[in-house]
Amino acid sequence: RWADRLVTLADLPIRDELRGSEPYGAPQLDVPVALNTNENSYPVPEQVVEAIVAAVRAEAAGLNRYPDREAVALRDGLARYVGHGLTVHNLWAANGSNEVLQQLLQVFGGPGRTALGFTPAYSMHPILATGTGTAWVDGRRKADFSVDAENAAADVRKHDPDIVFLCSPNNPTGTALGLDVVDAVLAESRGMVVVDEAYAEFARPGTPSALSRLGASPRLVVTRTMSKAFALAGARLGYLAADPAVIDAVRLVRLPYHLSALTQAAARAALAHADALLATVEAIKQQRDRIVDELTARGLDVVPSDANFVLFGGVGDQKTVWRRVLDEGVLIRDVGLPGYLRVTAGTPAETDAFLAALDAALRDKE
Ligand code: PMP
Repeated sequence: RWADRLVTLADLPIRDELRGSEPYGAPQLDVPVALNTNENSYPVPEQVVEAIVAAVRAEAAGLNRYPDREAVALRDGLARYVGHGLTVHNLWAANGSNEVLQQLLQVFGGPGRTALGFTPAYSMHPILATGTGTAWVDGRRKADFSVDAENAAADVRKHDPDIVFLCSPNNPTGTALGLDVVDAVLAESRGMVVVDEAYAEFARPGTPSALSRLGASPRLVVTRTMSKAFALAGARLGYLAADPAVIDAVRLVRLPYHLSALTQAAARAALAHADALLATVEAIKQQRDRIVDELTARGLDVVPSDANFVLFGGVGDQKTVWRRVLDEGVLIRDVGLPGYLRVTAGTPAETDAFLAALDAALRDKE
């Protein structure tokens, strides 16, 4: 019987570099207030629900056929959304920006090649590197978690990577990068430079996007997602913008028909209602700024944020505080930085619940 067999993955002939590693594992718990994966807390508005259902319905009878392998109509919609003079030829889409990042590593990384990132950054960057047989090296951040042009260029010189990951605004710190960092890394490297802009729509006014630099180099790629500002994490739609040659390169490794007709239809309908979906961004930014102010007033060490989440330190043992906050029904994220926790900005009521739970946890410590 299966239940009697005690075979674990350690007994299987998996690749050596995967031995002992852990899968990506943000807890998915059924809690009243989930502020741990930087989703958009607002449900999809009714008018957009109707549009998505109609678009998906229109595809149903045709599901006997494979979908448009090139997702042209969707990429055209994405090009219109991102602007910057980009067209369908500059855009590529996949199942979440995670898949886009994986495709980039499959085509530009792989065995014998190296990817450089500036840790702490998005935890999937090294996991995807390992999964594609790409060696991973950590660059340095300053004590305040910032990266400057000089540091970044020096790390590129030292490691000579095939791919550099920049994350702006950065997860888990919330910090956005200046374009001087992107320029310096592009100038110093011979490889691809991937700027992960999953949280771009939440940036404070005046924060530049690397989209404005795309014309400068065919080695620059900007990745984005509909999972955050568009409130569409469940649909799984991420994309990249780059030189058309990069899209030709990614086609070498993508699975045929990787984006289902249903996903393409849902995303196209969502893009047609971008204004309605993005209407929550300002409210979320207000809660983000409120969390920064409230935590600063409590004497905590708060990292300035251009994203829909806030990293804060000075809590002592973060595991204990995380657990205590969860006991109050509020799930936040322990990103593995000693003394720090990360909280997603959601609705005003969710901020109220989080602050009350955190206060309870911090009172316990006294
Ligand atoms: N990049 C960053 C920086 C992220 O934080 C996330 C999601 N947590 C992603 C990419 C991937 O998002 P998705 O696959 O949903 O597009």
